[in-house]
Amino acid sequence: MLPGSNKIVSIDIDGTLTDYPKPWLSFLRTQTSQDFDSVFSAKNALGLKNYDHYKHLWRISPEKYSVQIRREMKELIEYIYSQQGKVYLNTSRPFEHYQQMHKQTTDWLTRNGIRFEGVNKKSLRNLENQGVRFHIDDQITELNRLSNAKHLKYLILVQGNADARDEFGTYINREVHFSDTGGILPLMQNIFAREERT
Ligand SMILES: [Mg+2]
Repeated sequence: MLPGSNKIVSIDIDGTLTDYPKPWLSFLRTQTSQDFDSVFSAKNALGLKNYDHYKHLWRISPEKYSVQIRREMKELIEYIYSQQGKVYLNTSRPFEHYQQMHKQTTDWLTRNGIRFEGVNKKSLRNLENQGVRFHIDDQITELNRLSNAKHLKYLILVQGNADARDEFGTYINREVHFSDTGGILPLMQNIFAREERT
């Protein structure tokens, strides 16, 4: 096997690279003068139609493309490349509805010094085509949805609730890991070291 070929990592953007939904909720506060502690409570209080209206404003706002990227995730990506690995950023951002969004997203990542092979729609097919062995996400539903991707071996939940463990299906030939953002680099170092011994 070529060096690094088993170190192909897919990373979600919002909530994983960033601390979404915090920036979105603070944008919402400036728009509505109301405080929301979660997406769920914002949807409830505003109603779906209003919520979507503000979400649209957020998606075209400069604020969205200046959100801070977690230092720990930057370090993780640098580590992956230092080990001859590769990173694909896979996201649910609705590029298909906003002409500028893909470019704005890649420009924002590049401005922040993030290295990546591509920014793509988070789909099973894309993960398979990229040959990713790892997927890192903040949502268990997303890990469940993508768990069948052909080359995937490691499903890593960051910032998730460990109780969510029960919501995971049982996967054959898949390893499930839970980590906070501070633990993600040591976790990956462990897995890479183990992979190199096999
Ligand atoms: Mg996410």
